[in-house]
Amino acid sequence: MRKKLIVGNWKMNGRLADNAQLLADVSDGIGALSDVELAVCAPYPYLAQVSTLLNPVHVSWGAQDVSRYADGAYTGDVSAEMLCDFGCRFVIIGHSERRSCFGESDAIVVEKYKRVVATGISPIVCVGETIHERESGLANAVILRQMVAVLDAASVNELSRTVFAYEPVWAIGTGRTATPAQAQEMHVFIRQQLARVDADLAQRIRVLYGGSMKPSNATELLAQSDIDGGLIGGASLLAKDFLAIAAAVNS
Ligand code: PEP
Repeated sequence: MRKKLIVGNWKMNGRLADNAQLLADVSDGIGALSDVELAVCAPYPYLAQVSTLLNPVHVSWGAQDVSRYADGAYTGDVSAEMLCDFGCRFVIIGHSERRSCFGESDAIVVEKYKRVVATGISPIVCVGETIHERESGLANAVILRQMVAVLDAASVNELSRTVFAYEPVWAIGTGRTATPAQAQEMHVFIRQQLARVDADLAQRIRVLYGGSMKPSNATELLAQSDIDGGLIGGASLLAKDFLAIAAAVNS
């Protein structure tokens, strides 16, 4: 049985005072939610704050990106080892905003993946197609390409610590959400690729949905048998909405 996982992706948002309030509100509201695991992925400068204010028994935390290099002469980068110092449990890798705004290729995603799994942190590997790719009938081919890059480079042991996130690019920050049926279909496809590596593993790996998930659509999305949680952008900045999405797991 895969425990549902709800991960907040704050993106490049937050200030010390606002974060303190948000984290306090999330921590206060988590009490009744036992069937779900929660995490927040904060910008690097706030990881120290997050690690101080959160109790990892209730809410864990992570980063939104990582360097593809080990420590050394890479000005501006942050290594996976540094993230360990701040107790990061997760790192998002290959988010579509990294792929499109910063030119991250599948090869770079794999390099980052290998750095992260080497530390014991769990990577959250994002895959997803653009609207043009979907409308051209290429959605499956794109997801397959993005997944195979990682699957070919990873051992079964590394994969067992990996979370995948299906994030259709056309649904991220747009208010437009994949229908539960569309999302379920893609999650099944993703699990089929995992099963080609190891059938048992495929049943254990969590595949999250991301793309304008909010309290009003979370219940239906999270009820799909292959959707094991959510990667939440905008709605993770409001404690009320983030908690409502987590509560939707139980409903
Ligand atoms: C995301 O950034 O991963 C995301 C899913 O964003 P949003 O929920 O705002 O669409």
